[in-house]
Amino acid sequence: MSFMASSLTISAQDLEKCPVPVGPITEMAYTLTTTQFSVWAPTAQEARVNLYDSAIGGNMVGQYALTKKTDGTWQIALTGNFLGRFYTFQIKTSGKWNEETPGIFAKAVGTNGQRAQVIDMKSTNPAGWDNDTRPILRNFSDVVIYEMHHRDFSMCGQSGMKNKGKFLALTETGTQNKTGLSTGLDHLKDLGVNHVHILPSYDYGSVDETRLNVPQYNWGYDPVNYNVPEGSYSTNPADPSVRIREFKQMVQSLHQAGIRVVLDVVYNHVFDAASSQFQKTVPDYFFRHKPDGKLSDGSGCGNETASEMPMMRKYMVESVLYWIKEYHIDGFRFDLMGVHDIETMNAIRQAVDSVDPSIFIYGEGWAASSPALPENKLAMKANSMQMPGIAAFGDEMRDGLRGPWTSDEDGAFVIGKAGNEMSVKFGVVGAIQHPQIDYTQVNYSKEPWALQPTQMISYVSCHDDMCLADRIKATTLDGDEALRIRLHKLAESVVLTSQGVPFIWCGDEMMRDKKGVHNSYNSPDSINTIPWGNKTKYKEVYDYMKSLLALRKAHPAFHMGDADMVRRHLEFLPVKQQNLVAYQLKEHAAGDPWENIIVVYNSNPKNVKIDVPVGTYTVVCRDGEINENGLGQFKGAKLTVPAQSTLIMYK
Ligand code: CA
Repeated sequence: MSFMASSLTISAQDLEKCPVPVGPITEMAYTLTTTQFSVWAPTAQEARVNLYDSAIGGNMVGQYALTKKTDGTWQIALTGNFLGRFYTFQIKTSGKWNEETPGIFAKAVGTNGQRAQVIDMKSTNPAGWDNDTRPILRNFSDVVIYEMHHRDFSMCGQSGMKNKGKFLALTETGTQNKTGLSTGLDHLKDLGVNHVHILPSYDYGSVDETRLNVPQYNWGYDPVNYNVPEGSYSTNPADPSVRIREFKQMVQSLHQAGIRVVLDVVYNHVFDAASSQFQKTVPDYFFRHKPDGKLSDGSGCGNETASEMPMMRKYMVESVLYWIKEYHIDGFRFDLMGVHDIETMNAIRQAVDSVDPSIFIYGEGWAASSPALPENKLAMKANSMQMPGIAAFGDEMRDGLRGPWTSDEDGAFVIGKAGNEMSVKFGVVGAIQHPQIDYTQVNYSKEPWALQPTQMISYVSCHDDMCLADRIKATTLDGDEALRIRLHKLAESVVLTSQGVPFIWCGDEMMRDKKGVHNSYNSPDSINTIPWGNKTKYKEVYDYMKSLLALRKAHPAFHMGDADMVRRHLEFLPVKQQNLVAYQLKEHAAGDPWENIIVVYNSNPKNVKIDVPVGTYTVVCRDGEINENGLGQFKGAKLTVPAQSTLIMYK
């Protein structure tokens, strides 16, 4: 009996009704005597598992038909010890066998993620892994994030790190640049960040793992296998255990340094829909489509996944939980979170809370273009109040400081362009409702979107767009270096004193540039690498940012973590001039030992005088210098604030 292929096409409504299995998604379970294979393929006509003797090429050493179960999975239990065997699944739909896939939830893969491996996960644990614990985090308001790419971080000849471009670079201690200043892990500790956000580190497609002798660079926003570390960051991509073990060693070392690890997760799209593990397993199920049947492209990468589909939602929840449990990951940054639906993001938050509510979740509350789901269902920044416990990047303050994302040449507050003060204030309070914010004057959001200030990521620079040093160069028409240093410090001081969660792009603390390249996703190392010599060259910038982080840590007034407290204790001071934002953190805000703290950001190219509540103050930050023990006293009510700098003083 034969079927016409067309009669087997399955409608979207029927796909939605596919059974969803209960319990964790386990495609391979190994014991000494049995290996169980299972693949979810409810629309398949047949399914089989192929066994191989190597990660790529080599010989097929077995092929077994799988049996369909009522929950939509196809299974087989093979008797014998299959440890080390590579395998793929193959699914027959619409009358034809699809290309081989390691499964949608492979946990160990070889070169280029083509085949999965029968593996005993316990054997991948580095020594002491069972005793690895998350560094303590009392509150999300204590989070300070450092975003980094593995190659940016270690490729430079002056990095002092041996494992350049590898996970293991983050396990090295005692590394230095040419003048003896610390680099790598020691540098992160010294700087005072407590979360490292690593750019995509799951197995992605744009770097060919068969030719790692040739330098290849990519950010990695092109997922292939979501639940396995990327092979090119390991010392041997052909051996699946190596990338897993080395990733765990990295996490372990960061944890020992008191730093939590945030994974950049890109569930919103895949490298290529047609050749994705999703499409080869259950065609059309995991992606959204336009009315004409073509793929919807809210990601701008050719496809968008369908988080509202029950199995995709379960997949995202399971994947996040898997990274937490197997790899001890402490936080997640959702790429284009606005492509996902609110219900899924809340399901993830809830599932994560059941393991550890201190795990921090944030994302890009936007999409690249309109997803095929109504706006009010999407995890957009504007809907953040429906997602308590999930933070979003605040582009209002970012662009209020550096200038709009639409044009690299246009500056804003930092270069003294008037009219951006309210967007800066919006960011200072952490995107919450505050009686002194006139939302009509804010650049993008005409109303608050955060319930708590910890729902806003404060930043002025990240891997996307020009980094801060380039942006300042572009908007000051290559102003002299002394000026650019002043403005760099001014911009970072706003980020690091604001009530949201501060976020630093790797190398900004030493004024790294990307030679003006805006979208450096596949630029060579010469563009992307942090030049560690900069730490010496711009030591004053590094020391300034480090001191600001120490000040922030020591003073809860700068990170109250509670919207009501911010409304009560953060009061903007009236100023007559443009390009000036002044406020006080009053009445021992959040129990701060300092009674009143005055903070002024002045981006005017001249000194300005402002009225402050009369008193005797100790100045801790002035004119690009900072010292928590005091730079001098101020008495009276008429304060002079030096040009293009931040002033902080306390009573
Ligand atoms: Ca890869």
